[in-house]
Amino acid sequence: MWVIIDAETALITVIQYLTTFNANNGDKLSKQPLIGYLCPLFFKGYMLTDRQIAEIRTYFSAKKKITLTTHMNPDGDAIGSVIAMMHYLRKKGHEVKAVIPNNFPRFYSWLPGSDELIVYEKQVAAAKAALNEAEMIFLLDFNAFNRVGQMSELLKSAPGKKFLIDHHISPEEGFDYYFSTTETSSTGELVYDFMEITGDLALLDRDIAAALYVSIMTDTGSFSFASNHPKTYYVAAALIEQGIDAERIHRLVYDTFSENRLRLLGYAISERLLVWPHLHTAVIYLTKEDLKKFNYQVGDTEGIVNYPLSMAGVNLSVLITEKDRKIKLSLRSKGEFSVNDLARSYFNGGGHRNAAGGHVYDTVELTIEKVKSVLEKYKEELNYKLSY
Ligand code: 5GP
Ligand code: MN
Repeated sequence: MWVIIDAETALITVIQYLTTFNANNGDKLSKQPLIGYLCPLFFKGYMLTDRQIAEIRTYFSAKKKITLTTHMNPDGDAIGSVIAMMHYLRKKGHEVKAVIPNNFPRFYSWLPGSDELIVYEKQVAAAKAALNEAEMIFLLDFNAFNRVGQMSELLKSAPGKKFLIDHHISPEEGFDYYFSTTETSSTGELVYDFMEITGDLALLDRDIAAALYVSIMTDTGSFSFASNHPKTYYVAAALIEQGIDAERIHRLVYDTFSENRLRLLGYAISERLLVWPHLHTAVIYLTKEDLKKFNYQVGDTEGIVNYPLSMAGVNLSVLITEKDRKIKLSLRSKGEFSVNDLARSYFNGGGHRNAAGGHVYDTVELTIEKVKSVLEKYKEELNYKLSY
């Protein structure tokens, strides 16, 4: 272990030595140094050098027009990190707007500031203005332009610099700055880290803490996965020290189902569950008609994909949901099987090792068949026993 740490330290020193920027007056950030792009070969993310951190501090010490954005179908981490960043940057005196591609689930609408999010799908002109006028655009909780759906061309062509803060594997090229690692619980935790490196932790307050807690809680399934990093708990403790009520936040997010949502969950498990023991896999599929029957609202299918994993011996769970024009897939695994690789290779998607998503343009029946035939190829990889 010490050899690895030593090699890392040596490399960081070399990177910092090689990273000599032109002096600037604080009005702009230097380009991400080329050497920075080599970081993912050695670390699980991109390093910020001391010099870059100093530049970031200087840059954000003067008032800037900043717009924040996140991925389509925003989840708790997406909404939490955007809202936390919005409050934090405003406290620093910046002019901040936030644009999301489409609407977010109702159970995040108690977050202070959530009513200010500009929803591209409904407010195209306002979203365009916010993106085009920004000097700096923060992209939170995603790492590829296509993750913002219909908004991607607009985002790509927006003139502002693009600053990625994210925790997914293999970020796309084309962003100006990267603060990205997979060694964290969530983008929310990275927003906390960003406040720390910019020397702004004193600005942490209850609203920011509540939003960051939502990020961490939802992206770790209430501290049940992606949650073996000790630091995550130090951050959670710091958030609770701000006076947030973590139990109440949990209730607001998880105990506010409508009757229809709970019945949809029951129906999905009792009527739409397929179990393929030889593949250590379970699949739930929901058709458009199923969703209509239970008066589907945004967010109602969130979490359903996790239930099949509660069966012993099931290492992979797939949720197939029929949307208007496409089929959405949600993939979850327990243990070493990478759903990120699977989603990237076969389902036009990606994500993390144990949680990923994707989509296909097909019927529900053919999608189930495709999933099964693809998984037959992974029969050996899926055949492992976890210690319970
Ligand atoms: P979910 O299944 O909850 O929609 O997504 C699980 C994880 O996979 C999230 O981290 C999300 O960012 C990622 N993900 C979901 N859909 C897609 C997709 O279409 N493309 C990529 N690259 N990632 C996705
Ligand atoms: Mn996330």
